[in-house]
Amino acid sequence: MEFFDLIIIGSGITGLSAAKAFAETSGNKKILILNGEDRLPYKRTEITKNIEKGFSKEEFSLFEKYKDYGFWVQAKAAVIDYQHRTLSLTNKKEYTWKTLILATGATAKKVYNPKSHVIRTALDGESLLQKARGSRSAAIIGGGVLAVETAVQLRNLGLAVNIYLQKSRLLEDSFTPFMSDHLDTLLRSEKIKIEYNHTINQVDDSAQGFTIRSSSENRLFDLVTECAGSIPNTELCGKDMIRVNKGIVVDSFMQTSYKGVFAAGDCTEFLGIDVCKLWHQAEDQGLQAGKNAALFLQGKPMEEFPDRKRRMKLEVFGQYYYSQNYSSNTEYDKSIKSHKNNIYEEFHFKNNILSAITMTGNKTRAKEYEQALWKNWPITKLKETFLS
Ligand SMILES: Cc1cc2nc3c(=O)[nH]c(=O)nc-3n(C[C@H](O)[C@H](O)[C@H](O)COP(=O)(O)OP(=O)(O)OC[C@H]3O[C@@H](n4cnc5c(N)ncnc54)[C@H](O)[C@@H]3O)c2cc1C
Repeated sequence: MEFFDLIIIGSGITGLSAAKAFAETSGNKKILILNGEDRLPYKRTEITKNIEKGFSKEEFSLFEKYKDYGFWVQAKAAVIDYQHRTLSLTNKKEYTWKTLILATGATAKKVYNPKSHVIRTALDGESLLQKARGSRSAAIIGGGVLAVETAVQLRNLGLAVNIYLQKSRLLEDSFTPFMSDHLDTLLRSEKIKIEYNHTINQVDDSAQGFTIRSSSENRLFDLVTECAGSIPNTELCGKDMIRVNKGIVVDSFMQTSYKGVFAAGDCTEFLGIDVCKLWHQAEDQGLQAGKNAALFLQGKPMEEFPDRKRRMKLEVFGQYYYSQNYSSNTEYDKSIKSHKNNIYEEFHFKNNILSAITMTGNKTRAKEYEQALWKNWPITKLKETFLS
């Protein structure tokens, strides 16, 4: 059975950054990276921005950048024996490890019909484009970033698009009501229809297409895409071996409940409060998991994950939306609003310290704002720098 110092399961951005950090911290150690998809590791965020254009199999590949950090195997992990530190793949190969990083990401939820589309992988993007090319109408179920980006791409392909969401506004969790209204107006101006507070009872498929059935209407579409969230991939955790709640539970060192086994990215739940869903956050977590796995092997103290809040951005029909650490469920002590020349900004404070930023239309300032939030700017500094 071949031995590795570190095995990383999953080669999304989390697995790739973990490999980089482990290699750089530990020097000449043997790393195995498992790639469970049908192509070289790629930039997942490009998928929903390029359905309309289409893309080649290796177009968004990240492989060149990361290829030297380990040995690559294109196969899925099937079973892990944590006590004996062995891993079996679906192709029956077996390996043993000193440390392990679970970077298995998440799977798109498919709730309403097994034949509807979802959008998680490049393969999903290809399959959606193929279907869209022969279609005239599409229903998108969901009201988050992926729902909006997919709706825009299908609209650009000339389809009549309806978005159905249960909530009362778009991106309700991370956008202010103003931003949701702004986005609503923009999408409607491009002839995307949006149905709020809409509970779908079922989605039936027939030779004619898909029928969305709800209490208020039954409507036929050529295709349906479900963008109703994702579920962390936790099935390799074994029964009672590794603690799982919403995701694989990790501590401030990105270590799971099993010593020497780390997890990061979309498969995890950080300190029991947060499931990762942003590219740069997954990258940050992967870097920390990789570094700590190396420190663990060296018997050195591990480093706590700083958990810098990353920005969430959405760019559609030439408009830029930005939200950083904002939650509509959080109470802020004070919010300062600014509106100039189609730029709408809100800075949200707790104890006079910048705690969250929401903004529309000011892309050039995005990086500066991100830094200001990380550096806990007080209200006075923010006013002097950005609002005077
Ligand atoms: C379409 C789309 C667009 C997005 N756009 C943005 C954006 O614009 N900005 C932003 O900040 N975030 C965006 N996100 C979120 C961001 O892409 C994710 O947070 C990030 O990719 C998570 O990285 P990850 O490596 O943890 O998981 P993943 O990227 O899901 O990678 C996990 C990998 O592990 C593999 N795997 C799972 N199980 C096994 C197994 N048993 N054996 C081997 N391999 C396995 C999977 O096949 C997958 O390749 C987007 C997400 C999607 C789906």
